[in-house]
Amino acid sequence: MTNDGSGDVRLRGISKTYGSFTAVHPLDLTVPQGSFFALLGASGSGKTTTLRMIAGLEEPTSGTVHLGDQDVTRLPPYKRPVNTVFQSYALFPHLDVFENVAFGLRRRGVRNVKKQVGEMLELVQLGAQARRKPHQLSGGQQQRVAVARALINHPRVLLLDEPLGALDLKLRRRMQLELKRIQTEVGITFVHVTHDQEEAMTMADTVAVMNAGRVEQLGSPADLYENPRTRFVADFLGTSNFIEAEVASAGGGEIVLRAGGGRLVLPRARCGAPTAAGGRVLVGVRPEKVSLTHADDAGGIPAGRNRITGTIADSSFTGVSTQYVVDSPVCPAFEVYAQNIDRDPRLAPGAEVVLHWNPAHTFGLDAARFAPDGEGSPAAEEAAAR
Ligand code: ADP
Ligand code: MG
Repeated sequence: MTNDGSGDVRLRGISKTYGSFTAVHPLDLTVPQGSFFALLGASGSGKTTTLRMIAGLEEPTSGTVHLGDQDVTRLPPYKRPVNTVFQSYALFPHLDVFENVAFGLRRRGVRNVKKQVGEMLELVQLGAQARRKPHQLSGGQQQRVAVARALINHPRVLLLDEPLGALDLKLRRRMQLELKRIQTEVGITFVHVTHDQEEAMTMADTVAVMNAGRVEQLGSPADLYENPRTRFVADFLGTSNFIEAEVASAGGGEIVLRAGGGRLVLPRARCGAPTAAGGRVLVGVRPEKVSLTHADDAGGIPAGRNRITGTIADSSFTGVSTQYVVDSPVCPAFEVYAQNIDRDPRLAPGAEVVLHWNPAHTFGLDAARFAPDGEGSPAAEEAAAR
């Protein structure tokens, strides 16, 4: 689909306060037409409130909502080209699948609904269940009826608020792929709210990570994972190890850091902290980027890799990988995920090891802003100051 911006959802300075409590701080966000966009955040971070302001179900305290060129801020929900799927599917229990899906068309006075409803049931693969009542369907099937019912009116934007929250894990995984397929097929914009980072990463082209009523970072799943810019994002999407370090020198594209007695290298482009000598940097690295070598074999580690030493505190075999917890003087409980290919039997609790990784897989955060106890993030700091 070509995108000239004419169907983008644009939020400008949109906020919501309840009395003295700010649920959503002034927010600027553009959702490109035809994209699968996820709002990801813990419970209470303002996701539903944001979605409801797009739908027109909640009046913003400030700011505007545009759909393409049209300012819809003052339009009631039913006049917006937007539809919402909630976690409680709210199907009509006395109507069968066909009539649930046909409902929107009939209400608009469409006479011959058979073809459209039939196509929609094909899309969500419920053609064979057309005459069943909702209580005769599985949770996943009910969910698909809800999606079909919302899509039949050809909204420009479909809003989904934790639509898979009521399903068990296995079904949820299947429905994630299913929803992604449907979105690709119909090509309309999906804005999907979830607190499940894996769900957001699997489904969305773009993820906005929300924390305490603010978007902390926005990007593709891979970008957020590889280049987190705040401690919150680094911890919320997957696991990160952090080492407190001090800038020793910064020249060319590299920053050399001191941590404990050792030396670490960080590409300048991956550093979100001031790089003057003496500056404090929180060095991050993901568990799967790190290799574990028994201290006796340390001589074989190639030059140019970041390395720290430690002692294995714990190891757990998970099938695909073994997850190690290593106590290091510069980082207690450093996590390493090693693929189970050739397991070294010496890598057991108590073993002295060297942890090493490619400097390019390191990221740096401003230690002054993101305290190592995990409290520090711009949003959390402000919340604490209130
Ligand atoms: P999320 O969907 O991310 O879990 P919500 O957008 O539902 O979060 O809520 C964000 C915050 O706003 C929460 O702290 C919630 O308690 C508060 N909130 C939501 N709706 C209201 C309301 N009608 N009155 C007062 N506070 C509200
Ligand atoms: Mg919610």
